[in-house]
Amino acid sequence: MELPKLAIAALGGTVSMQAMNAGEGVTPIISGEVLLDSVPELATLARVNVETLGLLPSASLDFEFLLSVLSWASFQIRQGAVGVVITQGTDTLEETATFFDFLWDHDQPLVLTGAMRSAASAGADGPANLLDACRVALAAQSRQRGVQVVMNGQIHSASVVRKTDSLALQAFSSPIVGPAGMLVENAIHYLHPPTQRKVLPLPQHTTQRIALLEASLSADSLMLENIIELAYDGLVIAGFGAGHVPENWAGVIETIAGTIPVIIATRTGSGPTAQSTYGFMGGEMDLIRKGASMAGFLCPRKARILLWLLVGCQQQHRLASYLSKD
Ligand code: GLU
Repeated sequence: MELPKLAIAALGGTVSMQAMNAGEGVTPIISGEVLLDSVPELATLARVNVETLGLLPSASLDFEFLLSVLSWASFQIRQGAVGVVITQGTDTLEETATFFDFLWDHDQPLVLTGAMRSAASAGADGPANLLDACRVALAAQSRQRGVQVVMNGQIHSASVVRKTDSLALQAFSSPIVGPAGMLVENAIHYLHPPTQRKVLPLPQHTTQRIALLEASLSADSLMLENIIELAYDGLVIAGFGAGHVPENWAGVIETIAGTIPVIIATRTGSGPTAQSTYGFMGGEMDLIRKGASMAGFLCPRKARILLWLLVGCQQQHRLASYLSKD
């Protein structure tokens, strides 16, 4: 029987990192082709097309580059791949996963993975993560689940996954809902059924700028006051608690929301924003009255990606439908 086709793209990150010389820090130098050598077992599972689309630390990826990766991945599906795996740095994995998930309109899975330990370090996790990611991408149960992140034996949905530890092997979690699934003895076990996804059209523009500001105790409002003058097209605020800001921010937000979309998310790292609980100035009821939208379960970074994509396809008027759970 012919093995299924699988496509793998390497973008860089720790999984592709190694020191050039002893004592130097690690940098992304390992191509996708070489990464593949670390998982010989994969040859028994799939016919692989691997390409190195970039060798970057994930902090230096940008939306335009991600759009080209997305187009490559879609092409692989049209060419008959049953799934696509992308290896990249973990620092921005939660954001790239969200970006792709809002745009991935295939039933076939797109799976992102990386590593917390560089390729030559003892106990490097890259090969295990890559093989796991490939197993997930090849599995029929992974269809219609959009984009998933596979790390450390767990499968996380792009819409909820977050990097919640800077250096630990167990760096990713999905607050409140937990992982979408796990790998046990190489078999894939999903713990939740697939959810309804809302896929956006591709952006026609890529020059839009969405600011992300975090509320902090006793913060001044200088940057906030200059958002419109700086020509931002949207604003996301990582607010306190259930989506709150200081009193001196509330009035400024009202002015900004009269011109560009403003989303208030929570900076807590878990849980949704409120809608109808707090009535104080700068509380969510006040901010909604002033024209801001509450992010709900979307974290500030994912909310910024949503707004960038919506503005890019001139669908910002549909923001509310993308922020609601149903
Ligand atoms: N810990 C990060 C990684 O896993 C650092 C570098 C990056 O994100 O590219 O890859």
